[in-house]
Amino acid sequence: MTSAIEFKDVSRVYGDVRAVNGVSLRIATGEFFAMLGPSGSGKTTCLRLIAGFEAPDSGAVLLDGQDVTSRPPYERDVNTVFQDYALFPHMSVLENVAYGLRVRKVAGAEQTRRAMEMLELVKLGALAQRRPSQLSGGQRQRVSLARALINKPRVLLLDEPLGALDLKLREEMQIELKNLQRQLGITFIFVTHDQGEALSMADRVAVFNQGRIEQLDTPRMLYTRPATSFVARFVGSANVAEGELARRLMGSAEPFAIRAENIRIALPGESQDDNVIRCNGKLLDVQYHGAMSRCQVQLDTGEIFAAAVSEHSGNGRFAPGCAVVLSWTASDAVQLRSEPAA
Ligand code: ADP
Ligand code: MG
Repeated sequence: MTSAIEFKDVSRVYGDVRAVNGVSLRIATGEFFAMLGPSGSGKTTCLRLIAGFEAPDSGAVLLDGQDVTSRPPYERDVNTVFQDYALFPHMSVLENVAYGLRVRKVAGAEQTRRAMEMLELVKLGALAQRRPSQLSGGQRQRVSLARALINKPRVLLLDEPLGALDLKLREEMQIELKNLQRQLGITFIFVTHDQGEALSMADRVAVFNQGRIEQLDTPRMLYTRPATSFVARFVGSANVAEGELARRLMGSAEPFAIRAENIRIALPGESQDDNVIRCNGKLLDVQYHGAMSRCQVQLDTGEIFAAAVSEHSGNGRFAPGCAVVLSWTASDAVQLRSEPAA
């Protein structure tokens, strides 16, 4: 089957910055695909390479199996939603949404009919005559979504589209976006630096670090089987042990990750399971997070690990400064690759 999008060993260099450094990937038609990574890791540049606003220095970009590397943006069946909405302030909501049809010289009545249809889809039919300045942030984001969808692109690129919204609205829009994508069957490429957002929305996630993909996997695999220390830390902030610490704890210098929720914390002398890895430390801090609290523990070897304790486990007996014992079963530790993928 041909992929909606394919990168073949794509690089884009600015001066001495390798913004995108030898990226290869395939995104399936109808997939909800997330690009996740810290600021500056190359996500936006990848979107611009797909849209055609940038050309790669080497490698090839394919859309639906066709090499589009040297084609301009208007010859690509792709549209983009930006974080800052980029709406025309002097036009009504309806005119903003219809703009893409006007450019294509669609007849006036047809423009209005289709723009209204799109506005109904994003639940803004009642606000068609307003100006963007008369809308809330979430409503503006919906207008920009409707505007990007009006030409029925095969691929929709979304660059941190929810970044400017407050938490509650962001969570609502996450669900709506996901529903919209299912309904329309369009391929969505969703860029975010928020790991929770990527895990909860995407079919697959590419984790970016310094212009490279460290791991491309389903959310569940990223969380339960991170491949590198970078992914283990960035997705769900796991504890990572390398080198001498790994050798002492697990008997091998191979790096490994262990999640806070898989670590048991106890006072010295409290009963322990037999079949576990154990280490001593000192409790530095307990952060309350509702159902769980997160304990920061300095190991006797100096490293800091986090262990999660539930509200029901009698965590009141742990006070900062007290000696504690951390323990986990070997099978909960995930072996990591030492080097990022070449
Ligand atoms: P992200 O979207 O993940 O934050 P970007 O793709 O925007 O990352 O940027 C990746 C790297 O490329 C950064 O170091 C950034 O400063 C650099 N970069 C991006 N665009 C340009 C440009 N037009 N000129 C120079 N450097 C750029
Ligand atoms: Mg960006």
